[in-house]
Formats: sequence, structure tokens, C-alpha cells
Amino acid sequence: PPKLLLPKKSETVKVVIRCRPMNEKEVAEYYDRVIEMNVDRGLIEIKNPKGPPGEAPKRFTFDAVYDWNSKQRDLYEETFRDLVLSVLDGFNGTIVAYGQTGTGKTFTMQGVKNDPEMRGVIPNSFEHIFQHIARSESQQYLVRASYLEIYQEEIRDLLSKDQSRRLELKERPDTGVYVKDLSSFVTKSVKEIEHVMNVGNQNRSVGATNMNEHSSRSHAIFIITVECAEVGADGENHIRVGKLNLVDLAGSERQAKTGAQGERFKEATKINLSLSALGNVISALVDGKSTHIPYRDAKLTRLLQDSLGGNARTVMVANIGPASYNYDESLTTLRYANRAK
Ligand code: ADP
Ligand code: MG
Repeated sequence: PPKLLLPKKSETVKVVIRCRPMNEKEVAEYYDRVIEMNVDRGLIEIKNPKGPPGEAPKRFTFDAVYDWNSKQRDLYEETFRDLVLSVLDGFNGTIVAYGQTGTGKTFTMQGVKNDPEMRGVIPNSFEHIFQHIARSESQQYLVRASYLEIYQEEIRDLLSKDQSRRLELKERPDTGVYVKDLSSFVTKSVKEIEHVMNVGNQNRSVGATNMNEHSSRSHAIFIITVECAEVGADGENHIRVGKLNLVDLAGSERQAKTGAQGERFKEATKINLSLSALGNVISALVDGKSTHIPYRDAKLTRLLQDSLGGNARTVMVANIGPASYNYDESLTTLRYANRAK
């Protein structure tokens, strides 16, 4: 395979929008759609349903936009594949799903179980990684998986036997920030890594009286570490390590209620602290002029520090709903994503 070059500045952070289809209830109740998308031009328009007649819709452009007809496969091929490939080549990468609860974050990350067409980026990346490994002749790979959750700024290892234990973030000069005692499992096949994911998903729901409520308030991070050993031209064994972070963020709806712009953006509660911190970090990275990247503001951004910016690639998928009653939340999400762009 051709050697990957360092990503260009514009390629290090990508922000894309995905709008889900109307659900059954929205169709049955004849909700208006307030979203228009031009997929070819990466353009999205949102119309205020309560605005005066003739008011122009608000317009945004992104690296890509995906409408209600988008296929999981297309997102993978067009938006995620290169990032995963770069991880196999020893770079770090982060894929995050952002948005109001119910707009498709988990659909984008995990997809629908037992339906190959509806598989999200996590299972698609499993397939991709192990296919790549099976085809490589001169390299040897070691794949490890970890799975954690951040809830109210506390870290829980979703693969640990003891689900009541909280883990701490530590820092070492040589390896940087890491989660102390986080378990990781060596996986040798798609089946094995899928099993790890399923165990973590089950643990995630344990202790949550209402799973929807819980997942809307916590961030889930699936981490795949890929070690590649190869004998170089010098006859020496070279090892490259890449890390892929797959992040299903907490619902952004509380963020909206605190007003997500300017100075007020910083007025985050514990629940949305990580979301605003992530927005600040990505926007500082994209801006390119900031000398200070505020990684330290939240656990999420500290944890992802070595996988956001630098040589790492990031894709943020901002999810929205199409219906009129979602207008305020959808607009807030588009503004957040636009700021991150
Ligand atoms: P979130 O994780 O953001 O709360 P979900 O991923 O659970 O939202 O999505 C809410 C519902 O909408 C689920 O039933 C999901 O299957 C469905 N859904 C979301 N996005 C899409 C899509 N692009 N196409 C079809 N169904 C979708
Ligand atoms: Mg979800």
C-alpha cells in the first residue's frame, strides 16, 4: 500500500453534519422539515419555523453534509476510512459523534445490531482493521481494545469486573496522559473485538435505571490501539503505534440551555463541561493561530490530548433532527459545529 503522507492542515480536522430521517411519530404528526441540504456542495440551510414570512434561512457549509438518505457505508468510505487507515500507519485519530439526544450519535457510531447495512463506524472499523491486517505480508500487528465512560467528570472502565471503581487520569513525561489501571484486551479477530464491545455496552447499561437518560449524560469512548512491527531497510525491527478513539458524546441539549456562544460558552456545568471544552479545543486547532490549546479544561479533552491536533486526525460528526420542533437544538448544533470547523 502507498505510504500515507502527513495530513494537510485542512485534513487534520473535519467537521461533517448528518441529519437523520423523520421518525414514525414525526411523519404521523406531519411535522414540517426545517432542514435543506445540498450534499454535493456541503451546504445546509435551516429555516426558523416561527420566523416572519419570507425570512431567509440560515446557511452553513461544512466539509461534508449527509442527509436522511445517507448510507452508513458511504460515511465510512468517504469520511472515516482514511482516518482509520492512518491509525494502521501509526498515527492517532479521533472520531466523535456530537448532537442532541435522539439525533443519531449511537446510530452513527454503533449502528443497528445484526444488520450489516446498518453497521456504524465502530463495527465497520473492526472489519477494515482486520481485513488490512490479513492482507499485510511484511508487518505484524497487535490490536488492543479498551472501553470507558466519562460521567459527571468521573471515569469508569466499561471492561472491568468492578463497575463501581473510578479511574484516574495520570501524566508521564514519556507517554503523556493516560488512564491509570484501564483494562485493555488483545483481540485477534473481528469476533473477538466485537465481543469486547458487547461486554462494554452491557456494563454501560448496568446500574443505569434509564439507559437513554444515562447515555444522554455520559461520554462513551472505545479505544483501539494498533501496534505494527516491521523490519525496515536497515534490518532493524520498527514499531509504530496508532490509536483510534471512537467517541459517542453525551447529548448536547443541556449545552443549548446555557447558551452555547461566546463567553457564555464557558459557563458549563459538569455535564456539559466536556462538550464545551471539546468545542474550544477543536476550534483552537482549526483556527491555527491559537498558541494555547485548552486541553486541560476537561477529562475528555485531556484524555484525547494526544489524538486531537498535531499529527492526529479528527472527524466530528454533528447530528441533527429534521423536524421543526428541533429547530433551536439543531441551530445550536450547527453553530457549535461551525465554530469547530
Ligand atoms: P442518539 O444516540 O443521538 O441519542 P440514536 O442513535 O439512538 O440517537 O438515534 C435515535 C433513533 O433514530 C434510533 O432509533 C436510530 O436508529 C434512529 N436513527 C438515527 N439516525 C438515523 C439514520 N441516519 N437513519 C435511520 N435511522 C436513524
Ligand atoms: Mg445514544
